[in-house]
Amino acid sequence: MSDGNDSKKPSTNLDRAAQLLNEAEFSIALTGAGVSVESGIPSFRGPGGLWTKYGEPPLDGYQRFISDPERAWEELLKPTEDWLVGLRQTLGRAKPNVAHFSLAKLESLGAIGALITQNVDDLHRQAGQRELYEIHGNFKLLRCVGCSKRFSFENFPVDVKSLPPKCPSCKELIKDDTVHFGEPIPSEVLASCERVSERADCILVVGTSATVYPAAGFAVEIARRGGTLIEINPEPTELTELATIFLGGTASAILNDLSEKILRLHRSG
Ligand code: NAD
Ligand code: ZN
Repeated sequence: MSDGNDSKKPSTNLDRAAQLLNEAEFSIALTGAGVSVESGIPSFRGPGGLWTKYGEPPLDGYQRFISDPERAWEELLKPTEDWLVGLRQTLGRAKPNVAHFSLAKLESLGAIGALITQNVDDLHRQAGQRELYEIHGNFKLLRCVGCSKRFSFENFPVDVKSLPPKCPSCKELIKDDTVHFGEPIPSEVLASCERVSERADCILVVGTSATVYPAAGFAVEIARRGGTLIEINPEPTELTELATIFLGGTASAILNDLSEKILRLHRSG
C-alpha cells in the first residue's frame, strides 16, 4: 500500500499511525493468530480454522492434564486426536512472515518497546523479537507447574517408561508450556504483560479478534485511559470502536508499509 505522499503533514491513516507510534512515550504491540495466517497457520475459529475443521478441543484441558498426567503425556508424545496432530504438523513447518519481521524491525527502531502475543507458534522469537511476552505459552517449551522453570521440549530427557517427567529443580510435574483451557496464565508472564501495558501510552493491535481475555483487556485498558490504539485487521473487531486508527488489511502488507514509514520519519529527523 502506498499513498505517494511524503510531506511531513500526516495525510492518510497509515501516515497518522506512523506519526503516533513515533511520538508515543512507550508503545507496545499485541498480536493474535492473524499475524501467523500468512505463515500457513490457520486461526482456530472461522472459515478454515483448525477448530472449525476438527472440532473444539476439551474445555477442561488443564483439569484433564492435572488429574491424569501420565495419559496427558502419552497424548503429548504421540497425539491421537486429529486437531492436535494437525496443529503440531502445521506449527512444525511454519516460518516467520513479513509481519513478524516488520514487528521486530519496529522494535529495533524503538517504535515498540514490548510485544505481547497470544500465539504459541514461536514465530516472533524466530523473527528476532526481543522484549516478548508469550501470554499463552510456546509449543516448543515445557514448563514446571511448581517453579515455572521452562525447558526446551526437544532437549528435555523424557523417559517414556516413567511418565510424567518431573522437574530437575523442584521435582514437581512438567507439562507443555502452552496454556490449556482452564489453566491460569503463569503469574510471571501475566505480571510482565501488566507492567508493560500499565506503562504504555500507545498499543498496536494486530490480527486478533480481541475476544480472549485477559489479552484483549490490555488494549481496552490503554484506550480507556486515553492512550492511542492502532488496530490492524482485515475485518473490524470488538476493539474497532475504541481504536484511534483502524488500518484494514493484512498484517504483512500494512506492517511492512508502517515500518518503512517509520524508518523514513527517523531518516528525515
Ligand atoms: P482469532 O482466531 O480469534 O482471530 C484471528 C484474527 O485475525 C481475526 O480477527 C481475523 O480477522 C484476523 N486475521 C485473519 N487473517 C489475517 C491477516 N492476514 N492479517 C491480520 N489479521 C488477520 O485469534 P486470536 O484473537 O489470536 O485468539 C485465538 C486464540 O487461539 C489465542 O488465544 C491463541 O493463543 C490461539 N491461537 C494461536 C495460534 C498461533 O499460535 N499461531 C493460531 C490459532 C489460535
Ligand atoms: Zn520446578
